[in-house]
Amino acid sequence: MVLGGAGDTSLLLGENDPPPVVEQNPLSNSPFLLTSDHFGRAIPRALGDLGLAESELTRHIAWDIGVAGVARALAAKLRAHLIAQAYSRLVIDCNRPPDVPSSIPRISEATVIPGNESLTRELTEARRREIFDPYHRRISETIERRLRDGIPTVLVSLHSFTPVYAGIKRPWHVGTLYQSDIRLPPLLLKGLRAQSGLVVGDNEPYAVSNETDYTIPVHGEARSLMNTGIEIRQDLISDQSGQTEWADRLANIFGEIEATLRAQGLLPA
Ligand SMILES: [Zn+2]
Repeated sequence: MVLGGAGDTSLLLGENDPPPVVEQNPLSNSPFLLTSDHFGRAIPRALGDLGLAESELTRHIAWDIGVAGVARALAAKLRAHLIAQAYSRLVIDCNRPPDVPSSIPRISEATVIPGNESLTRELTEARRREIFDPYHRRISETIERRLRDGIPTVLVSLHSFTPVYAGIKRPWHVGTLYQSDIRLPPLLLKGLRAQSGLVVGDNEPYAVSNETDYTIPVHGEARSLMNTGIEIRQDLISDQSGQTEWADRLANIFGEIEATLRAQGLLPA
């Protein structure tokens, strides 16, 4: 047992485990705050391999393939603050309310996760307290600090999706995901649709909901921030050149969006 960062006794993370929160440009004044809930695929040492083969721990059920490279490069290009989760969604899914069954999935697509079966309440709560909470607390504190400092916040939640899910091929290259914000998503859709050769999903392959999402409803919608999610198809960003290409594309689009929002008075001129 070691002491955790908040002074609580840690049941889960030890001194050889990485911190849950990954950040880039924390002092940025860019209006864009980038988040990445499924950025990493770390597993606390105490959980071993969750009873899964390495081949399962590297595929899309464990993390958003390719998104870490895109997120880092996009944050660098926009000089924007990125807050990302280092741990696998198989340990605890940071884009699910912690009280739904898929928060700590016992089955993902067709894979049973032995390490998630028969968890005690204490072990379930440790995953939340040591992995989920620090990540979302950091996002909350950042938004509140920016508010106090007069820095506007536009929340952009970065994800990637598998080209084939449960045997069904997905036609989109990229999709926007949103709930009720009507300011940012239309501008992002317009920017993506202006790119030649892209099939762009409008709330595809998923729409955001309070039951299946956490970051956008809690940090974006509940605070009335301009916000959107982006889903990029994983085969397009599986290597560094694809990640760079998409980061360049998104940086250009968000640069234009920022200018538009300033012209519209939705951001200070
Ligand atoms: Zn994701």
